[in-house]
Amino acid sequence: PKYKLFTAGPVACFPEVLAIMSVQMFSHRSAEAKEVHVDTLNRLKAFLEAEKGEIIMFPSSGTGFMEAAVRNTVPRGGKVLVTTVGAFGDRFAEVVNSNGRKAVILRKEPGYAVKPEELDEALRKNPDVVAVTITYNETSTGVLNPLPELAKVVHEHDKLLFVDAVSAMGGADIKFDEWGLDMIFASSQKAFGVPPGLAIAAVSDRVFEIAEKMPERGWYFDLPLYRKFNEKKKGTPSTPPLPQIFGLNVVLRIVEKMGGKDAWLGMYKKRSETIREGVKEMGLGILAEPGYESPTITAVVVPEGMKGVDVYNAMRERGFELAKGYGSVAEKTFRIGNMGYMTFEDIEEMLANLREVIEKLKG
Ligand code: PMP
Repeated sequence: PKYKLFTAGPVACFPEVLAIMSVQMFSHRSAEAKEVHVDTLNRLKAFLEAEKGEIIMFPSSGTGFMEAAVRNTVPRGGKVLVTTVGAFGDRFAEVVNSNGRKAVILRKEPGYAVKPEELDEALRKNPDVVAVTITYNETSTGVLNPLPELAKVVHEHDKLLFVDAVSAMGGADIKFDEWGLDMIFASSQKAFGVPPGLAIAAVSDRVFEIAEKMPERGWYFDLPLYRKFNEKKKGTPSTPPLPQIFGLNVVLRIVEKMGGKDAWLGMYKKRSETIREGVKEMGLGILAEPGYESPTITAVVVPEGMKGVDVYNAMRERGFELAKGYGSVAEKTFRIGNMGYMTFEDIEEMLANLREVIEKLKG
């Protein structure tokens, strides 16, 4: 490829992932495919600390799980408290409403996280919601919400909790059982560094109990059907993207080789810290409020008179593909992703080029 990728996803993949994905195809009902399916589920269970949860893989992108969450658990006309700190929280609200359910919105300004007391207040005001949604890592602003603290509040109000971890899973810690989550989902093309096409989630027993009684929950994202196929067929109801599952399996083996989840997440932490420090040294701003910075993507605020897209374009000319600003902050920001395959030398090289670009643009 022509560019070094610091994108928001799809991201650069590990060479081992690309290698396994190019093997010849075989039936998804074969013994070999079943073995990989089960091994991948087990590795995900360990990675997400979800011994009590069911791991589900969909042949879809991450958004499929938004649809699934809503259809399997919220009756038509039912309410969902959607917390939104940016564009992807807003998407969850659209998914709720377009499925004939009603989103009640708790919105924060770009760069800010949801705080437990704000969530508590919103739930006191809206005791009739069935579920709460949280974007763990808002990709448009580079904000990591305080998920364990927010989950506690949701439990106090005894609501279901759905977590969009599309750009968090694989980059930020997840303790499914301990935090008492009901559903946490992601896409293959983000922090696991696998091409797009596979959605991954851990789902609680509570969700299945409700789903089994839910009429018209659809077929493609019927969660109990997926659980049944996990158990009986060691696969998915429809044909899955086998190469992506192989790729994910290989990434989870790389995690193991690296020394486990903490070592892997430490790599992400260090990458994002290096990027933030570098950017601050250049006199640029970080959109995320201190203490809530994302370990997978940084939204950088450009100085007055500069446009985020100018930085993006100038970096492309130098062989680095960053990410444009996104959503309501698109104009005054650009983003630097640190997901997938990259080295620390790549990061240093990118920062050195960025420093020159910024100096030039300042004029
Ligand atoms: N939520 C978040 C936080 C995301 O970053 C994205 C993708 N950028 C999505 C949802 C949508 O995921 P997908 O494109 O895999 O459906």
